[in-house]
Parts: sequence; structure tokens; C-alpha cells
Amino acid sequence: AKRFILVKRFVGFPKPTDLKLVEEELPPIKDGEFLAEAIYLSVDPYLRKKVSSFPVGDTMVGTQVAKIIESKNPKFPVGKHVVGQAGFGWRTHTISNGELTAEGLNSAVLIDLADLPLSLALGILGMPGYSAYFGFLEMLQPKAGEWLVISGAAGAVGNVVGQLAKIKGLKVIGIAGSDEKGKWLKKELGFDHFINYKTQDVGAELQRIVPEGVELYFDNVGGDVSTAVMNNMKTFGRITSCGSISNYNDTELKVVPLQHALVSRQLKMRGFQIVSLANRWNEAFKQNLEWIQQGKLKYRETITEGFHNMFNAFIDMLNGRNFGKAIVKV
Ligand code: NDP
Repeated sequence: AKRFILVKRFVGFPKPTDLKLVEEELPPIKDGEFLAEAIYLSVDPYLRKKVSSFPVGDTMVGTQVAKIIESKNPKFPVGKHVVGQAGFGWRTHTISNGELTAEGLNSAVLIDLADLPLSLALGILGMPGYSAYFGFLEMLQPKAGEWLVISGAAGAVGNVVGQLAKIKGLKVIGIAGSDEKGKWLKKELGFDHFINYKTQDVGAELQRIVPEGVELYFDNVGGDVSTAVMNNMKTFGRITSCGSISNYNDTELKVVPLQHALVSRQLKMRGFQIVSLANRWNEAFKQNLEWIQQGKLKYRETITEGFHNMFNAFIDMLNGRNFGKAIVKV
């Protein structure tokens, strides 16, 4: 068995030497336990933040899809697949009892995705898909005909938000970091407009596309992009703050002049943590699955091969190399 341990907390952009790949001998499983072998692992932005305060020497945290290969727990039979959360992390093999954690999260959940790829349980049919579903539908309370701007639009959460918005009859503007991403969002996912925040002036583009201002903003990135969006919103506009990846690697917190737009435009901003909705994830799962099966929701993944490439996949995601969900295949 192999796992990655943290040898140095991330400071600024994570470095390959912050983690170490180590071999381990696992003990035999006890009654109530099972042994699972990783098939797909997830690399997510929240890992960057979490590891700032993470105990050195511990296994790197993270979610994976694994196959049960040995079991002394009748609820987790050999051959079934689980999404492994707490106690799993960046490991090729994990011993678990599948019980609830202190935060009320299942450490392992059996999955059945019909004939869809198992990796979707880490993306559109997993935590990012649930974040898109609740963050958009519930936090923003969107109405047909409204304009929605999404930052981080080509990522795991953002691309799903845009597709949900098209299902609900909104007009969608995606912001992301390459023209190729823009092509995908417009041509294949039906986004109405695209802005490349690396090569275009976000504020000027929004002004050009919707001079009267937009009603809704789904924010994945924070920072200057968000300031530009908020300054192009309508009075009483609504914002979901999902994340702020633009500053996760900053060593000093920059002050961003958002407040002015919030006050002057009387905006309503709502943050959320998808883990706190864990008891309702099934609602999002069922609806997203149905829309996938009906062809209304599409999915795309960027898959890196090889467990030893976990760190590279993580960095590639932070650098924006992923279209849709970033995944590692063991
Ligand atoms: P993504 O798949 O979107 O991957 C991260 C993307 O961020 C990259 O592809 C890159 O795309 C973009 N990015 C990187 N650096 C910057 C930057 N400086 N400015 C703007 N964009 C940048 O990740 P997820 O969909 O998994 O997560 C998106 C956001 O949602 C994150 O902020 C994450 O923390 C948050 N999140 C919050 C949850 C919650 O419960 N609140 C749950 C899940 C995610 P590009 O090419 O466009 O730069």
C-alpha cells in the first residue's frame, strides 16, 4: 500500500517537497472493518486551504472512489464500490469501518451509478455537483430570464452551475482562464457568453454584454474578478460565494474593495459549506443523475493517470489545466 504524507505545510504555492509518497504495510482487517482499493482520487481546491493547518506527518486528506477487496462488515461486501471520505485521503489502500465521523459525515458510502463512470461520484454526482445544485438553486433562488455570471466557470462546480442555469431558462456568462474553455462552455454546454479573465477586461466585457447589469453571480474565485462582477450588477442583485480560489495561495491577505459595490448596489451575498448540507446530498444526486440520463446535463473530466502523479494533478488543477472535474486514476 502507498500513501502521501505531509512533510511540510503549504506556504504559498504547494511544492512537490511538501508531500512524500511512502509505502506502508497494512494490518489484517478486524471484525466490522473492510479493506478498499482506490480506483479514482479527487484533487480539490479546498485541500490547499485545509493543509495550511494540517498536522505534519498525517496522510494527505481527500476523497476517492474505491473497490472493497476484503470485508468483515456485512454492510460493505467485497466487490462493491464506495466513496471514501474521512480516514481515506491520498492512499491506495484503506481500512475503514464505514462509520460516521465526529462531523456527521459518512466515512464511506456505497455507490451505484448504474452504467455511468464511477469517477462521476467525485464530480457531477458528488461533492462538486451538490455544491452547484444547492449553491445555485437554493442559495441564489434563480428565476427564468435572469442574467447569471459564473466565475471559475469551466471547473468542476462552475460548469454544472451554468448547465443548471440553462435548464432553468437563465442567460449565462461564464468567466474562465482560456479561450479553449470558453469554446467548450459556449459550443457544448450552451453558455451564452464567455469572458477570458486572463486576456480580457472583465468589467468592460460585462458592461458591453449587459449594460443594465446582471442579477446573479455565482462566485468560485473571489479577488479582482469578483470586484469587477459586483460593480456590474443590478441593484438588489444576489451572490453565492462558493469559494475564492484566487487567494488560496496568497501568503498575505489582500484587501479587495468589494464592500463598496455591496452597499451601493444593495446586493445580497450568501456563503455556504456543502458539508453542512450532507443530510440532503441525495436530493442533488437524484436530480443531477436524472438530468444526466436525460441528456440535459453533460460531464467532462480531466483524468491524470497514476497514483504517483497525485501532486502533479493537484498543481495542474490549481493552475487551471482542468476542464470540468480533475481526477486521478490509479
Ligand atoms: P475547479 O475544478 O474549478 O478547479 C479550480 C479552477 O480554478 C482552475 O481550473 C482554474 O481555472 C481556476 N483558478 C485557479 N486560480 C485562479 C485564479 N487566481 N483566479 C481565477 N480562477 C482561478 O475547482 P472546483 O470546481 O472544485 O471548486 C471551485 C471553487 O468552489 C473553489 O473556490 C472551491 O474552493 C469552491 N468550493 C466550495 C465548496 C463549498 O462548500 N462552499 C464546495 C466545493 C468547492 P481557470 O483556467 O479558469 O483559471
